[in-house]
Amino acid sequence: MEKNTPKFIFVTGGVTSSLGKGIVASSLGMLLQARGYRVTIQKLDPYINVDPGTLNPYEHGECYVTEDGAETDLDLGHYERFLNRATSQANSVTTGRVYQTVIEKERRGDYLGKTVQVVPHITNEIKRRIKLLGNTGDYDIIITEIGGTVGDIESLPYIETVRQLIWELGEKNSIVIHLTLVPYLSASGELKTKPTQHSVRTLMESGIRADVLVTRTEHHLPKDVKAKLAQFCNVKKENVIECMDAESIYGVPFLLHEQQFDEVVLKGLDLPYNQQPDFTLWKTFLERSLHPKNEIEIALVGKYVTLHDSYKSITEAFTHAGATLDTKVKVRWVYSGDLTESNVADELKGVHGILIAPGFGDRGINGKIIAANYARRNRIPTLGICLGMQIMAIEFARNVLGYEKADSTEMDTQTPHPVISLMDAQKNVTEKGGTMRLGSWVCELIEGSKAASIYKSQLIKERHRHRYEFNNDFKEEFEQNNFIPTGINPETELVEILELDQHPFYMGVQFHPEYKSTVDSPHPLFIQFIEATLNHSLNEKINAKGEKL
Ligand code: GLN
Repeated sequence: MEKNTPKFIFVTGGVTSSLGKGIVASSLGMLLQARGYRVTIQKLDPYINVDPGTLNPYEHGECYVTEDGAETDLDLGHYERFLNRATSQANSVTTGRVYQTVIEKERRGDYLGKTVQVVPHITNEIKRRIKLLGNTGDYDIIITEIGGTVGDIESLPYIETVRQLIWELGEKNSIVIHLTLVPYLSASGELKTKPTQHSVRTLMESGIRADVLVTRTEHHLPKDVKAKLAQFCNVKKENVIECMDAESIYGVPFLLHEQQFDEVVLKGLDLPYNQQPDFTLWKTFLERSLHPKNEIEIALVGKYVTLHDSYKSITEAFTHAGATLDTKVKVRWVYSGDLTESNVADELKGVHGILIAPGFGDRGINGKIIAANYARRNRIPTLGICLGMQIMAIEFARNVLGYEKADSTEMDTQTPHPVISLMDAQKNVTEKGGTMRLGSWVCELIEGSKAASIYKSQLIKERHRHRYEFNNDFKEEFEQNNFIPTGINPETELVEILELDQHPFYMGVQFHPEYKSTVDSPHPLFIQFIEATLNHSLNEKINAKGEKL
């Protein structure tokens, strides 16, 4: 294929939200990549926030961070996990960002004399952003997922842009996949096609014809239902693909492949489809994650635990690392706001490992400190991520170094012992959006450390999202008391990793390793953490037997 002539796939959603467009787009990307195509996936989000960085996780789930420091929708995490390819700022477009660019241009005078309007100015800016990835020459196929549901007022400019682009690209250079729901009415025992028909019609009213229907359903679609959907929605029969709930999201590509989904799409794009995909690695991974030999339980201690999507990348990283070790990782969701000295032993009873989650603000902080203390003293394998590492440092300073009032200045600006404090670069920052320490930063690992043996390298790169840091005034004292800074940013001297000597696994990382874990490349830190929890669970079993004897 010629450079710079990528084909475009647009994924829209109908009937209801939360049907899993991100998983369908990711599954398709994975299938096309397995056939030898270079693929990337982009998300268009219809909200007015410039990025989801300022959103409470309860609103929108986890905020995912790319290598180049974009704060994005959690779907970008799925794209990376399925494709094993980094995404970037260009993969994430929001209405807020589009308007921001257009308004900045207007203020600069770029449109001098003209009335600035949704069509053509906003739609042109959306178009420019869709084409950006294509212009890199790095991809054969760009999949663009349009957030929201067809018919929403706020997604109209995106739909109109897609209409224009399809026309500009010409025949066979783009395809529209429409994801809908076929509900089952148990009272009459019927699968209903009408919502899908209406949704396709709404799309048509905007000038877009769906080429392929992917239908979420709880029951297999009988032939006649498929035929009806094809006839009333104007698509070929073989272009109606059912998408049942899968045991694992990583099984979805195979459900779709069995119905020739990838072939249907490649035909629609006039691209060769004779190269058979190689699924060996994925099939082994799936088999191990669905039928593992071992099972362990990890407590995830955080404050957004009622919405599991808030920690999506962490639980997915558990799945990847767990499969590597033939182990199912069960998560016990522990709300840190409820943890006290008197209930911690009960709440964490029986878990084989503890993850102290990232977070912001002071709610639930005390519970996290109590959990860290419990884990440290009881030698339970523990990984602290970002705020989690900061918590470990506070707990250590209070209970080992004896600084009773040690704290982070995020929680207590007046603390006499600020073991965690605001980074210098943050001191004059007043705007909240996009101003944290973001994206990928280099970290140097101390020779002979656990971290160095895990990464098998001295220089690593991990992604960050925080304002506060370990205060180097306390570095020596920590070191002397065996909580050792083993990962340091070589340019700024910032402490990125703390690891406790003589503990099976007690490590805090200022970065977010979970963002880089994929099916093809599970994260070594998670693998090592799960391995430590597995050993802990085996030891517990041996001890229990010993006691009985
Ligand atoms: N609130 C902390 C900071 O800003 C930690 C952030 C996080 O856990 N992502 O430094």
